[in-house]
Amino acid sequence: MPIKVLSDDLASRIAAGEVIERPASVVKELVENSLDAGSTRIDVHILGGGAQSITVVDNGSGIPAAELAVAFERFATSKIDESSDLIAIGTLGFRGEALPSISSVARVEAISKSDDSEAGARILVDFGKQTPIEPAGAPQGTRIEVAGLFTNVPARLKFLGSAGRELSRIQSNLASLALVYPHVAISLSADGRERLRTIGSGKLVDAVSGVYGPKVAEQMLELDSDDSAAFSADGIVSYPSLNRSNRTYMTISVNGRWIQSRRLSYAIEQAYHGFLPERRFPFAVIRIQTPLDDVDANVHPAKAEVRFLREDLVYSVVQRAVRGVLSTSAPVHELGAGRAAGSIGLLRTPGNSGNGEFAVTVADSRNTEFTQWPDQSSLAEQTRLPGAAGDQSQPGQSATGTPKETLPVLRVIGQAHETYILAEGPDGVYLVDQHAAHERVMFERVKQRFDQNETESQPLLEPASVDLGPGAMAAVQEHLDDLNRVGWGVEEFGTNSLIVRSVPGPLSTRASGDGAGQVFIRVLDELSEGGTGETWRDRMLATIACHSSVRAGQVLSIDESKDLIRQLEQTERPNTCPHGRPTIVQLNVNDLEREFKRR
Ligand code: ADP
Ligand code: MG
Repeated sequence: MPIKVLSDDLASRIAAGEVIERPASVVKELVENSLDAGSTRIDVHILGGGAQSITVVDNGSGIPAAELAVAFERFATSKIDESSDLIAIGTLGFRGEALPSISSVARVEAISKSDDSEAGARILVDFGKQTPIEPAGAPQGTRIEVAGLFTNVPARLKFLGSAGRELSRIQSNLASLALVYPHVAISLSADGRERLRTIGSGKLVDAVSGVYGPKVAEQMLELDSDDSAAFSADGIVSYPSLNRSNRTYMTISVNGRWIQSRRLSYAIEQAYHGFLPERRFPFAVIRIQTPLDDVDANVHPAKAEVRFLREDLVYSVVQRAVRGVLSTSAPVHELGAGRAAGSIGLLRTPGNSGNGEFAVTVADSRNTEFTQWPDQSSLAEQTRLPGAAGDQSQPGQSATGTPKETLPVLRVIGQAHETYILAEGPDGVYLVDQHAAHERVMFERVKQRFDQNETESQPLLEPASVDLGPGAMAAVQEHLDDLNRVGWGVEEFGTNSLIVRSVPGPLSTRASGDGAGQVFIRVLDELSEGGTGETWRDRMLATIACHSSVRAGQVLSIDESKDLIRQLEQTERPNTCPHGRPTIVQLNVNDLEREFKRR
């Protein structure tokens, strides 16, 4: 065949194949248009899994009668123009492909009334053929009905699943949009039955309730977010006790756009590591904010995937945000939780139970026995942690109102595998990872000194020289103030080398001579992930804490073990190390009894 340019009609149908794969893609495109039009309510009605008809009604800005026909032309859009930057796009649509694509493979009726016109207008586009526009009475907004999808493309029709299957895809798409847009009231009904309805209050927990039901909504935790950071993640995630066997309950948005990202789903899963049994997944809605020009939304036909300039950074922001809320709210890990799928899998510590009965318990681990909870008043002195002073009236609550972590009363029994401190507590047997525990202790100590500008610096007898790559050198220059403040004395020496003259006090025993340079390189390596400000600083402090902590494989005497436990008890977050891994796991006494068939 000779080369020739395809007819518009054929070109549209080919293009439609990319954008409109199945009924769920029609729903997504239409609802995204409604969202772009500033709607506060969007109702979707489905018949026969969407193959029969899909109707989307919104109360948005509407389409003026004069533009109704052109809206169905290919590449017709009101959202960008020649002057637009194709990277930093704030609307969901921008390619002007949805309406022409849909109407080339279905019969579409659109009725719309825009804010500034008196009356509405109606247009019918029958498999690509437009009929003239006529006036129509209509409320403010747009109603689009799509019927007979793919009846002119039998090959496509063959690939559709059953009506039930297509409907569940629609529902899952719409659920994600409803979760990402909690301020819009969104509903879905199928063959007359309501499947989902959100109230549009703007609260994530209400959206979760509308999508997954009130029972699920009760078991969600809100993430703390730092809106001031250039990269941030907020949202809501389920308590580990609430989980599912597939990943479809994790919803992610970037700058208001719902996206699918295996990598970021994995970041969420990683954050739950140790909290959930194998092959179980949480409910989560994660809203990521990045600078607009850090994300390219124009890489996927249905815009379902985006490309990040700094994906590693986004990954760690997400993981840290989720991990943070889990480790504050769902503390000690119970051993064996991994075995029983769907079990609670966690010990709620006394501090979290809310009734205050157990209060803040700090054990005197020198006691060889405990028969009852220690008397609170006699312990009041010891429990006053810096920063949480005077908060005794609210046991288990920190000053900010978030639950404060506590350790159970522990009696040290010994050390196992030169790695774990073995202890007995009221509800079972506990294992403390000596390195993780010491890291936590050192981290809080180093951080406190850092925050109060009281860090120590240990001069080296023999300064060490270090060769760095250009990336690491740039990092040193960028963060020189923080590095100095924490006690590193470094000087540039040629383009890519440094002289280390002093090291942070806690590192002095490890980092003498050549060791100093090695530790410095390790610190930079671990920090090379990027990030700025607070997160970079915390990571630097965590790395220093790590390198100044007791290692696995180191023998600890009973007294040293007790000492470490006592120090751990004094920390703000005794249940996790600064990297978010657990410091302590529990073997529940009930499980022991069950295993030994005592009951
Ligand atoms: P895009 O969304 O990429 O601009 P579409 O083909 O989806 O392209 O829509 C074409 C144009 O029609 C939009 O730019 C918008 O101006 C208008 N439009 C479509 N749906 C609606 C709606 N529900 N409310 C208001 N305007 C709409
Ligand atoms: Mg669109």
